[in-house]
Amino acid sequence: MTLVLTEEAETRPAAKPRSARLWRPRRVLVTPAALDHAHGRQIVARAEHLGLPVERLKSNRLTGLRDENPRRAYAEAKATLAVVTAPPTKLKLQPIPPSADWRFDLAEGCPAHCQYCYLAGSLSGPPVTRAYANLDAILGNLGGYLGQGGVTSASETRAGEGTTFEASCYTDPLGIEHLTGSLSAVIRHFGAWDAPVQLRFTTKFAAVGPLLDLPHRGRTRIRFSVNAAAAARYEGGTAPLAERLTAMGAVARAGYPVGLTIAPILPVEDWPDAYDALLRDAAEALADVARPDLTVELITHRFTPGSKTVLEGWYPGSDLPMREAERTRKLTKFGSVKYVFPSDLMKAMRAHLTERIALRLPAARILYWT
Ligand code: SF4
Repeated sequence: MTLVLTEEAETRPAAKPRSARLWRPRRVLVTPAALDHAHGRQIVARAEHLGLPVERLKSNRLTGLRDENPRRAYAEAKATLAVVTAPPTKLKLQPIPPSADWRFDLAEGCPAHCQYCYLAGSLSGPPVTRAYANLDAILGNLGGYLGQGGVTSASETRAGEGTTFEASCYTDPLGIEHLTGSLSAVIRHFGAWDAPVQLRFTTKFAAVGPLLDLPHRGRTRIRFSVNAAAAARYEGGTAPLAERLTAMGAVARAGYPVGLTIAPILPVEDWPDAYDALLRDAAEALADVARPDLTVELITHRFTPGSKTVLEGWYPGSDLPMREAERTRKLTKFGSVKYVFPSDLMKAMRAHLTERIALRLPAARILYWT
């Protein structure tokens, strides 16, 4: 595996960016099974060190979290961290096109409040953040998938990334890292894994300080989920966009391959200029990185009938545009319905973003548009 450390990263100390806001759950629940694992006990110790109240449960089931009022259930759940063990189904990995060969989970749920949250409709029950204590089993399981990928490994342009593992499908792993330490452990694991592999995760947070000095050996690509400034009002509880971009510069200087996940792309007011301004700011954040290893993923906004219902329960006052009449109805390959932007608008946004990326970030590789 070729290391992606830049000359600059080898010779210059990485600048420490300003810390993003760190989540402080009001409740921390821990199951007996989680306490059987050293990692579970470490998470509890971290929580207690931060002065958070920890409730040791008598059973391994989380109960009493439902509420007839979806808004109240949501608020309670979003203030709760549960330390649990990942169920055995989590050890059977699924392909995750177009991002990676395999998806694995360190946690499920996220403390932020994005009004378009991708998890709406895929989490069952209130959105409590569940951090997995059986990290050893989760990491030990990955080896069986080496060389078995059919997504990026089967792609002519991406096969060089090795077998790719995506860790941010069901959580924002950086948003809870100060409480779990799981992400640092996984980055170390991939750094020590002498094989063509890549860990991938994307984040809307910025507290990258603990990651900068890890022995990552270029095997983790850190992508920052960003958007036009006008979309920031839909992203409660995340780090401000400027902090995310500063964090991207810091990890790039620390030798990590980096990425921009531009999502969800929305036709906000003056969208051509708004997305150009985003790309200009991203270029500025990387201006002093000699040869950034930078990718871009472009994801347009979409919703399903199920996710819309959940989001309307969670964010009743939101003005996020989700009117079916303004969208094109499509069937997914599993036969379910999704609503995307009409084809003319999609084409215009794609052409504009592609052109501006080539101009503003000429070193960037666009991985996909969806
Ligand atoms: S950061 Fe991601 S997972 Fe968390 S609330 Fe926002 S969209 Fe959902």
